[in-house]
Amino acid sequence: LFESVELAPRDPILGLNEQFNADTRAGKVNLGVGVYYDDEGRIPLLKAVHKAEVARVEAAAPRGYLPIEGISAYNKGAQRLLLGAGNPLLESGRVLTAQSLGGTGALKIGADFLKWLKPDANVVISNPSWENHRALFERAGFTVETYPYYDAATHGLDFNGMTAALNALPEGTIVILHACCHNPTGVDPTFDQWKEIARIIKQRDLVPFLDIAYQGFGEGIEEDAAVVRYFADQDITMLVSSSFSKSFSLYGERVGALTLICSSSEEGERVLSQLKRVIRTNYSNPPTHGGTIVSMVLNTPELYDLWATELAGMRERIRSMRQQLVEKLKAEGVNKDFSFVLEQRGMFSYSGLTKEQVDRLREEHGVYAVSSGRICVAALNSRNIDYVAKAIASVLA
Ligand code: PMP
Repeated sequence: LFESVELAPRDPILGLNEQFNADTRAGKVNLGVGVYYDDEGRIPLLKAVHKAEVARVEAAAPRGYLPIEGISAYNKGAQRLLLGAGNPLLESGRVLTAQSLGGTGALKIGADFLKWLKPDANVVISNPSWENHRALFERAGFTVETYPYYDAATHGLDFNGMTAALNALPEGTIVILHACCHNPTGVDPTFDQWKEIARIIKQRDLVPFLDIAYQGFGEGIEEDAAVVRYFADQDITMLVSSSFSKSFSLYGERVGALTLICSSSEEGERVLSQLKRVIRTNYSNPPTHGGTIVSMVLNTPELYDLWATELAGMRERIRSMRQQLVEKLKAEGVNKDFSFVLEQRGMFSYSGLTKEQVDRLREEHGVYAVSSGRICVAALNSRNIDYVAKAIASVLA
């Protein structure tokens, strides 16, 4: 049966982790990961999460099956994060949400739903994008192409290239957009640029699928959802995948949500009924634990405030690491201007390091980065940053 099965290529980032784990050098630093670490180099357990967990355990609640679309209060909480509490859309019946298995799960049920709805449409993703975007939509049966995004010369956005490409897409093309904190580059459109993107999407009748995996890591919880809110205000129908993996530091609990904004409540009812079929035939219904915790945090004002403060702390720590990295590189005598790192948002930075420089960082210094030059700024801390700055300076010299 399985004779003809070929060995699949290794996931490049997981492969890097394996190499890092096997490295016996004491000062090694892993900047290849996509995880937030605190200043001690640990994945934090947020206090708000811990409090909710303790309460949950004390309640000794049974674990029956959840509804197909998950916990209602969780889904409402996810909608409030996206659209802002008090947004009239929340009561309109036009917004529907399904609890999902992380952001990946949201993308997957969204992709399966779209394949059923628009079997002949193509998908476009940014160049570059989170590597699973392409794989996931191809697996769902789509042809995936790219639109220009990153401009290596300016370390910024190739806005003209991007809008020209969007303008040339056939009607109905599915456009995957990173709502904030673009992975892997850290480069986001400005709000005015988002307005122009929205205008093209509307005019060309494109299908936006906004992926928001780092809400709260850019400017703030509300600010980072600005594009979702703007698109919704423009009456653009769309899909949105949310991930709470990073924002709640609950990577392994698989917490996320798929939200669809429809043009009427009657349409919303039909859409939800079909989305439930996609879920039912994939995994039937989502797991209880992580969803309950997130729901408790989102729906209990004291826990919400505590969480927002902790999230702000993560965001500010990353900012401070960006600042310090730029200053320390300068102090190490690096001539190249790295101030673009301060403009980038979220956990990642496209550092501009070449593949050869990344290889030397790893081989000569035990500093691991992705071959594209992507580094995870959230893995820097007060103890490793001097070492990393020196190592980068030495490969640039
Ligand atoms: N989208 C993007 C852009 C991501 O970077 C990630 C995760 N790193 C995801 C989706 C998936 O998130 P999750 O781990 O919650 O599945």
